[in-house]
Amino acid sequence: MDKQQEYVLRTIEERDVRFIRLWFTDVLGTLKSVAIAPAELEQAFAEGIGFDGSAIEGLTRVYEADMLVKPDPGTFQILPWRGEANSVARMFCDVLTPTGEPARSDPRNVLKRALAKAADAGFTFYTHPEIEFYLFERPQRPDDALVPIDTAGYFDHVARGTAHDFRRDAITTLESMGISVEFSHHEAGPGQNEIDLRYADALSMADNIQTFRTVVKEVALQQDVLATFMPKPLVDAPGSGMHTHLSLFEGDRNAFYDPSGRYQLSDTARAFIAGLLRHAGEITAVTNQYVNSYKRLWGGGEAPSYVCWGHNNRSALVRVPLYKPEKGGSARIEYRALDSAANPYLAFAVLLAAGLKGVQEGYELPEGADDDVFAMSRAERRALGIQELPNSLHEAIQIMERSELLADTLGEETFGYFVRNKLTEWEEYRSQVTPFELRRFIPAL
Ligand code: GLN
Ligand code: MG
Ligand code: MG
Ligand code: MG
Repeated sequence: MDKQQEYVLRTIEERDVRFIRLWFTDVLGTLKSVAIAPAELEQAFAEGIGFDGSAIEGLTRVYEADMLVKPDPGTFQILPWRGEANSVARMFCDVLTPTGEPARSDPRNVLKRALAKAADAGFTFYTHPEIEFYLFERPQRPDDALVPIDTAGYFDHVARGTAHDFRRDAITTLESMGISVEFSHHEAGPGQNEIDLRYADALSMADNIQTFRTVVKEVALQQDVLATFMPKPLVDAPGSGMHTHLSLFEGDRNAFYDPSGRYQLSDTARAFIAGLLRHAGEITAVTNQYVNSYKRLWGGGEAPSYVCWGHNNRSALVRVPLYKPEKGGSARIEYRALDSAANPYLAFAVLLAAGLKGVQEGYELPEGADDDVFAMSRAERRALGIQELPNSLHEAIQIMERSELLADTLGEETFGYFVRNKLTEWEEYRSQVTPFELRRFIPAL
């Protein structure tokens, strides 16, 4: 048994932990949990604990249904909302096949494989997300209209506002679980909030995002409100994005920083951005995985719709933020398409793969866009070679299906499952007759 595992066992004794939740994630990003008693833990560390994987979205094919989960002791945390006595802890797990191999369809494994490729090239990958979400009054009946908990806007301070208390509780909980929060504020939509996590290596961050979503839902229950990460819940207000800041490090050195480069961007950073832009269409089905995601991307409110980059340009897909030159270590780029409902493991894997491809194949970075690309005419955008992001989940899937990069990065099993699952979602969606159509067409036609 290694030191971390020993530490976990000791803490369980000292803190009176009665249940250990083993957390893992399905292909769509839903958190799964199985609870074990402390007595089972040594076995879980040694060999993993068995479960029937066939019931979990996309994890396994039926004939290899028995899977194992093996906890990662580095992710051990007590769940603060479960109280001090008889407490409950959790660990993120790797999913293994019955013979003990890492399951290639485990999203955590997909990300680990992408990170290993970057490590072969000498890079570690860091991310920090700005996570937006809405708070609504808890509906009484399922089809009640959504009522935001306040009518405030961007950075508003709401006296005695619920959102304040909500953010404070959520942040305190996150920090007590070892997740640092950098920033939080009211967002532009009524009831919309944002919490930004301090940067971490991409695997820890993907785990942190899963914890974040759980904490936000938990605090919402305590405060009797409804929290949602749905990309675009309201027609007339901005959607919820998860803009994510990305950087590559070589050892201690930020590989995106070059004091002599334009905007202090290194050649590596430029080629990484070029990779993101060239492959943006291919990765969008993963970064924006629901039919509703495209309502956000094409619904204004500072969500990106066009493939371009810019220095501090908030209409661009990739923004190079301003930062203090003496803080070379914080050089980074912001990818703005990602939404708050993405599977963070898969999304980080495809972002890294796209950027790294640009670096390894020396892609040339096109001119940046300095102007608001939404204010340009179609012809102007075309003249500048600025393409559109996919307009719908269907278009995104069609582009993804032809992408070698995505097939390689996700692996055959996840790639195939994802495409099938999303085509089904599209077909169900396409068959709906919506209130919009009834309003628009019944009297007229
Ligand atoms: N809500 C916007 C989006 O969906 C972002 C707003 C902002 O943070 N500037 O991307
Ligand atoms: Mg922000
Ligand atoms: Mg924001
Ligand atoms: Mg941002």
